[in-house]
Amino acid sequence: MNIVAKKSLGQNFLIDRNILEQIVNTVEIENKEILEIGPGSGNLTQYILKKKPKKIYVIEKDNDLSLLLNEKFNDEINIINDDVLTISEDKISKEKLTVFGNLPYNISTEILSKWIVNLSKKFWFNELILMFQKEVADRIIAKSNTSNYGRLSILSNWKLDVKKIIDIKPESFSPRPKINSSLLIFFPKKDFFNFENPKNLEMITRVFFSQRRKMIKKPFNQIFKNSKEISKKLGIDLNLRPQNLDPETYYQITKEYENLRS
Ligand code: SAM
Repeated sequence: MNIVAKKSLGQNFLIDRNILEQIVNTVEIENKEILEIGPGSGNLTQYILKKKPKKIYVIEKDNDLSLLLNEKFNDEINIINDDVLTISEDKISKEKLTVFGNLPYNISTEILSKWIVNLSKKFWFNELILMFQKEVADRIIAKSNTSNYGRLSILSNWKLDVKKIIDIKPESFSPRPKINSSLLIFFPKKDFFNFENPKNLEMITRVFFSQRRKMIKKPFNQIFKNSKEISKKLGIDLNLRPQNLDPETYYQITKEYENLRS
């Protein structure tokens, strides 16, 4: 079957053998259950299979590619011809999954936010190895007091520890994207703040970072009636800027907000 890459589905196929090899060498695959998101024509799938997983599930939205994968791999893989944004990943297997995804760039942060915000107490995965546009990856791993630091860093680091594995150049893909990519690995944290409603963390970071150059006095006043008292209690200097507060402080602010409303 001749594959014509569909732009609307973010189809940039990874063709660099060294990179494919590096990706499957980041974690133990043998005898593990694997979930691959957006397998495309199966380039990465092939490398995963060489590592002898116990089982491999793939979620591919494109009907043509799902047929192609079926022809190519037959019963070696379990194809879920569906949209990753609407599927319940925790229903796929009883075992915890190792997840690989060379995601379409236009939905990558939406997927991550779905997995973090929707995540119940029980993690359905052991680790996530995901490809992002480099610029987005740099925002995810950014530390406080840097220009890339913001909402995405705070939300992504709430329940997960994250590390960069490698940067990947456009030449490693076909067709070539216009941007550089980075591969990140995420591990579930053992301890994290439990929020009644994770949307409160989203709301609070939105209010703070909508004016990232201004002092946090204003967003603090917007969120809390008695903001002076609360900032004192939490040990936060209201003359700081949003990017000076580390992620833990945003989690504490959210917790305080929820406590006051309950
Ligand atoms: N993993 C392949 C590779 O490395 O060669 C392909 C990666 S390509 C960047 C993204 C893949 O995700 C495409 O195969 C595309 O059809 C699929 N895709 C796009 N949107 C999707 C969605 N909402 N749910 C599942 N798969 C999706």
